[in-house]
Amino acid sequence: MAMDLERVVQEAREAFESGGTRSYFWRRSQLRALKDLLHEMETAICETLNLDLGKHRVEAYRDEAGFLIKSVDYALQNLKKWMSPEKVSVPLIGFPTTSEVVPEPLGVVLIFASWNFPIGLSLEPLIGALSAGNSVVLKPSELAPASSKFLAENLPKYLDNKAVAVIEGGPLIGQQLLEHKWDKIFFTGSSKIGRIIMTAAAKHLTPVCLELGGKCPAIIDSLSISGDIKVAINRIAGAKWGFCSGQACIAIDYLIVEEKYAPSLVDLLRKKIKSCYMRQGDLTRIVNKQHFQRLRKFIEDPVVANTVVYGGSFDQENLYIEPTILLDPPLDSEIMNEEIFGPLLPIITLKKIEHSIEFLKARPKPLVIYAFTKNEKLKERIVEETSSGSVTFNDAVIQFALDTLPFGGTGQSGFGKYHGKFSFDQFSHQKAIMRRSFYMEFSFRYPPWNERKLQFIRYVYSYNYVGILLLFLGLKRYSSA
Ligand code: NAD
Repeated sequence: MAMDLERVVQEAREAFESGGTRSYFWRRSQLRALKDLLHEMETAICETLNLDLGKHRVEAYRDEAGFLIKSVDYALQNLKKWMSPEKVSVPLIGFPTTSEVVPEPLGVVLIFASWNFPIGLSLEPLIGALSAGNSVVLKPSELAPASSKFLAENLPKYLDNKAVAVIEGGPLIGQQLLEHKWDKIFFTGSSKIGRIIMTAAAKHLTPVCLELGGKCPAIIDSLSISGDIKVAINRIAGAKWGFCSGQACIAIDYLIVEEKYAPSLVDLLRKKIKSCYMRQGDLTRIVNKQHFQRLRKFIEDPVVANTVVYGGSFDQENLYIEPTILLDPPLDSEIMNEEIFGPLLPIITLKKIEHSIEFLKARPKPLVIYAFTKNEKLKERIVEETSSGSVTFNDAVIQFALDTLPFGGTGQSGFGKYHGKFSFDQFSHQKAIMRRSFYMEFSFRYPPWNERKLQFIRYVYSYNYVGILLLFLGLKRYSSA
């Protein structure tokens, strides 16, 4: 395997060095080929995701196969524009000059993907890396073995297999890959492994993008949305139980609501579960036994178990967990301090919804803060006073599908943005180009220094055109101060 790895990395390097990946035509052909794969293998992709996670065909298409077709289309539509140099204005200090920013591919990129959207989170960054003209080594997650195998078998059939390679394996292979020198490492996964990635990258000063997790809260301001609470409940339930059973970095982790609204919120959620999230086919299963046990352990803690107000049953044989609601589990319990990543939904009650701001500020920065409210003052305070990768009002998870918004975390939830043009930028170096002629040589830039030169530089930096003119004409005395 070590030899194989060596050869794959070497080939990816040679493919990049050959210059072939830089052209518009190569990039477009790769994106088109990827789109062909997604169209032709849509059924196989959905079946693969069903094998790994029991995802329903609709969910698999919505969140991965179809989602990716949307992203490739967007990249194809915009590729030429993204690749074009961007002219920038030139301040007085650079006159006369033309300047531009030219996006340049970074080189050979290593992408690590997680298991929860094992095809989506492998190919979404790949779209960005190919658009930007890089060669790529992709390591899918070993915890979604069918998806990993699917990618390893099928990507080489469609894509330039010198420039794009898939390496399958777990942490050991991950470690071996990290020993190589990369031009970028794009990592989706946990903050624990994110630290390992960053440490390894530091050895070669390789830039990294870390797409990590965290606990995404949703504030429910029941009073202000009372008329629209049904819509809110649809969206909250969909963003927890209808989105990989909560096994998603942007899934709602817990709700915050005023004490007096908690009983009716529980009641509405309970009804919603009963009408939409009871059949195993409609719910994604837990990825494996280890994660199943991890989730079970959360509510085996007796003080937490006492707070279960709905659900709580576990089907170990088939790895299903019933959508479960907890009311006010202790804030120092594990479930309120670890990322849940499953269908357990704690509700935290506060006396006043405005206290949610302090509550969030006292905790690590989440990937997303959701708030269901029409209270403009509260919205403004959330945007101004809290910090998170993003904020979504009155909906959840759907922001992920907007190619025009940057997606990524801050603080504990990671750093670096992608999606749409942000993906292209993530995998490009923004090279600054300044073009000057040999006209207009000013001696003020060079010694021997004198006060007049100092004054001239002051005027140039402060755009004082009159001062410069007077100085040139000898009509202005310079100060020695
Ligand atoms: P993980 O960190 O265990 O694994 C991620 C990747 O790293 C996998 O490909 C894995 O094989 C590899 N890996 C594991 N150990 C390694 C090691 N020692 N050296 C090198 N590589 C190693 O994460 P996971 O369990 O696959 O995913 C769940 C986590 O990912 C959650 O925390 C979730 O919030 C986060 N996540 C974030 C996003 C996002 O876009 N921000 C999306 C999905 C998941």
